[in-house]
Amino acid sequence: MISQYKLSTQSNGLFNITEQVIDAISRSGTENGIAVVYCPHTTASITINENADPNVIHDIMFGLEKAFPERQEFLHYEGNSAAHLKASAFGASETLIIEKGKPILGQWQGIFFCEFDAPRTRTYFIKILRSPSPPTF
Ligand code: ZN
Repeated sequence: MISQYKLSTQSNGLFNITEQVIDAISRSGTENGIAVVYCPHTTASITINENADPNVIHDIMFGLEKAFPERQEFLHYEGNSAAHLKASAFGASETLIIEKGKPILGQWQGIFFCEFDAPRTRTYFIKILRSPSPPTF
């Protein structure tokens, strides 16, 4: 089963999509398997990080700005190479283990869509793969 979602971003940042992932797994009826959350963009990412203190999201974005500043030496015509670098650093997908109908997440973990080049209308996918049932004899 695959689900497609739209997200309109007005600013750069991390957008919590944990509930959408939990809901997609629930609707699929999958008890055990794998969920892949995938972002088909080159200036956005999917990541798993802290979902408790919102200052962590601030600090992640602040740290990325420091690590990947816009530079005059960049050649890309679109002028958003820093966003491309951030997207590659975080990656286009996350894989979650589904156990007893829920994704295994640590107490403080959440799943986030990362926007590095707002404003944009974005898409992401959640693909659920069910573990094969053990053979019955
Ligand atoms: Zn670009």
